[in-house]
Parts: sequence; C-alpha cells; structure tokens
Amino acid sequence: MNTAWVLRTHDDPRSAVARLLENLWQRGDIETMLAPTRAADPAGVQPTWLTSREELKQVDLFAPLMKRNAATALAERPDRGPRWSGALLRPCEARAVNDLVRRQKLSRDRMLTIGFDCLSTLDEGDYLEREVREGGAQRMTQEALQFARQGGILAYRNRRACQACPQPVPSEVDIVLGFLGMPVRKSILVLAREEAISTRLGLAELTDGPASDALVETRTATVAQVVARNRRTAERFIRALSADLPSDVEELIAYFDNCEPCQLCLESCAIYDGELVALSERELGRAARVGRWLAACVGCGMCEQACPREMPLAALHDRLASLVRQVVVH
Ligand code: SF4
Ligand code: SF4
Repeated sequence: MNTAWVLRTHDDPRSAVARLLENLWQRGDIETMLAPTRAADPAGVQPTWLTSREELKQVDLFAPLMKRNAATALAERPDRGPRWSGALLRPCEARAVNDLVRRQKLSRDRMLTIGFDCLSTLDEGDYLEREVREGGAQRMTQEALQFARQGGILAYRNRRACQACPQPVPSEVDIVLGFLGMPVRKSILVLAREEAISTRLGLAELTDGPASDALVETRTATVAQVVARNRRTAERFIRALSADLPSDVEELIAYFDNCEPCQLCLESCAIYDGELVALSERELGRAARVGRWLAACVGCGMCEQACPREMPLAALHDRLASLVRQVVVH
C-alpha cells in the first residue's frame, strides 16, 4: 500500500482541502476538529474547535496569519469523549504537540493529527493592513497560494520567526498536506505517516491516486531550499542580537527576573511549563528546567509576537537553544 497520494484541486485548493477533510472526518469517526478558520474573527484566522463537518468549509490553511499556537488550544481542551478528535497543525504547532506528548501533557489517543506545509505568516498588523489595502478578506490567502510553488510568500515580508523557521514541514503527524513546491491550483500531496493510516482512512479512494516520484521529489527539493535560506537568515538574526542580551541560561533567568513582569511572552508559549519559576529559595534545578524548555523551543515566535517591548525573543531563544543542545550532546 502506498503512503504518498495526489489530490487534484481544480483551481480551488481551499475547497479541495475542505472536501478531503469532510471525508476524513467521516472515515475517521471524528467528533470535533481543531482548525484555523475565520469563525471567531472574520478579519483574521484562529485555531477553532469545529463540531460539524459543514463547518470545514470555513477552514483556511493558506491564510498567512498565526495569532496563537494551536498546541495551546489542544492542550486546553477539556476531557475528550469516546470518539476521535482531529487537529490541523502548522509545522511549529506540530512540534509543540510532539513536545507536549513526550512530556505526557497531551495524549495522542483518538487524535488524528493532520499537519500542513506552512507557507509562512505575516505580522498581524501587516496582515490586516494589507488585506484591507489590497482588496479585502482572503486577499492574503490568494497571495500565499500564488507563491506556494516557489516556497511561500516573499520571505522578507514574513514574521521574523517564520523567516528563520528551522523546518516548515510537519513531523510526527498522521497525515501531511504537502503544499510547498506544488502547483497548488492543480494538485497537492497527501502523505500518510504509515500504510496502516492510508488503509484505515481509505486515502486511495479519497484522493486521485498515488503521487508520482517526481511530485514528491519536487516538494523535497523546495523544502530543502527554504530550510537552507531560513538557516542563513536565522544565523544573521543571531549575529545581529545586541551584546546586552543574555548569552547563557543563567543570564536569561536573571533577564526574565528583571523584565517588566507582564508574562505575556510566557503565557503565549505552548511548551512553557513554569520553568522560570523558582521552586525553592536556592532555586535548585531551575537552570536545568529552563535549559530543557529552551532546547525544546519550536521556533513559533508567539513569545516575540506577544512582547510589548518587541524583544527579539525568537532569535535569542534560538541562540541559547543551540548552546543548550551542544551541552546535552557533548
Ligand atoms: S515558524 Fe515556521 S511553521 Fe511556524 S508559522 Fe512560521 S513558517 Fe510556519
Ligand atoms: S519560546 Fe517562543 S518561539 Fe519558542 S516555543 Fe515558546 S513561544 Fe515559541
């Protein structure tokens, strides 16, 4: 059995994806699905819990806007019933889910994870201004679709975290919807993690058949180009960090202890779990806990987006995470 499938989109990728999701909902015995929609906020797109297949028409995976890491919404969800839940996740959201699962903060039981290639996101203000200036709602969705084949919207317009994103394709999810490098108005890829998932969900019937090796390789090559470009950008951002900013974990702890205590950056982090809180007067183990948090950083940039002082937190965490990982490896 195959694990790579092609889905024809007939010049309307959003509707094609919605139809696929409706079928997956039915085949997967899904009761609720977390997906980015405009339901709660017509001007923007946010992770929303959907409770019926009809609502899937509102899903917009291409809008270049990320107001919140969906892993936070997933972790907050109260006890699930006996049926399945689904979750549509950007790559950095999938990484956060994987971290929460590893730490047993979230269970994969009866949860179908559907990741999708990220075409990057813009700062919210920039997104809203351009939607209005350039022709109204969903203008930016159209622009993202236009640039999918080249690897996303012109990089310099993206959020800084997205410009430096280490991996814009999802990992450890059940199904991946592949957009990068694809002629999305004609076709996209549907990739199952393993054959058993393809079989259980009937991907052979829900798609237009096996994907050609050439199509799969085109996506792989485009992703490699985006990753290399983003790595260069990340290194540039790190080099540009001010010398006053923390250069190790202890300095970071002191920095947060002295920062204006709004906590907005920490509240917006899907994988933060109180690591900066001192557990005892002598703060035993705090550096190790903070190091673990930094090493697990998924690069979503939600902390930076929330910071009222506009601190370059994503680049700062990237620099410190590299140091922590080196210590763990050696
Ligand atoms: S950090 Fe990466 S995966 Fe997350 S929104 Fe930006 S480009 Fe997409
Ligand atoms: S520290 Fe910032 S970039 Fe890293 S996972 Fe948390 S919110 Fe995302």
